This record gives sequence, C-alpha cells and structure tokens, in this order.
Amino acid sequence: MPAIHDIFAQRTLGRKSRAPVRRPFRCRARRAMGRPMNDTLPPCPECQSAYSYAMGALLVCPECGHEWAPDAPSDDTDGVRDAVGNLLADGDTVTVIKDLELKGSSGVIKVGTKVRGIRLVDGDHDIDCKIPGVGQIGLKSQFVKKVTD
Ligand SMILES: [Zn+2]
Repeated sequence: MPAIHDIFAQRTLGRKSRAPVRRPFRCRARRAMGRPMNDTLPPCPECQSAYSYAMGALLVCPECGHEWAPDAPSDDTDGVRDAVGNLLADGDTVTVIKDLELKGSSGVIKVGTKVRGIRLVDGDHDIDCKIPGVGQIGLKSQFVKKVTD
C-alpha cells in the first residue's frame, strides 16, 4: 500500500496532466456504448443515413448533423407498415403493388388500384377497406404502398 501522501501526489499529477475538455467526450462515448446501437435505431429523416446514434434523449446523424427526437417505441413495434416500411394509419390512401386474387371469386384486384380511407384491423389481413366495384374486403399490408401526395 502506498502512503497517503503518495496517493495525493498521484491524483494531483493525474488531474494536471489530463486535459479537462476531454472528459465530456469520454462520458458520452461510454453512455452510447451501453445501449444497443444501429439495429434498432431509425434512419436519419433528413438524409436516410443508417448510421444514426443516440445522444441522451436525441438521435444524431453523423452524416448531415441532423438531431431529432425518436418516435415513441410503440409506434415502431405495434404499427402496421406497408410493403416499403411506411407506417400506415386509419384514413390513409394506398395502392396495390401486385395483382391480388379475390378469395371465393374469379375477380382480381389489379396492381396499381388505389384504395382510399383504409382502416387498420387486427389479423392476417390487417387492412379493412372498400374498393369501388369490389366491395368491402381485407388486404394484407405487405401488398400495398402508401400514397403520400
Ligand atoms: Zn442525416
């Protein structure tokens, strides 16, 4: 065991030799490493970079410098998403991305069919909607694409 005055001397020396400005960076890096990174974080909304990282309560994009608050986690896990990953909501307009055969009939919903005012429901066919000339039917969200215009 070193004598008391030896410990005091080491501490004083250490504080003097270390640049104080480096401390915030070390703290930030350690906090970031404690969380699961990039697999779960959303891409940058500005430039779509996948290299976003968490800094405190915010997400930061290293490529364009954009900072934003992440959505509530429930939106990511519970939401119904279309074929390309857009979050769908009641009242959205979508288009069908492939020909869909209608169960129990010879009819087909053609690719490109626009469906207005969808309603999200639980189940295998998670979109409830009404298509003119076809009627009330259930669609699978992976076969539609949200119309944003
Ligand atoms: Zn970005």
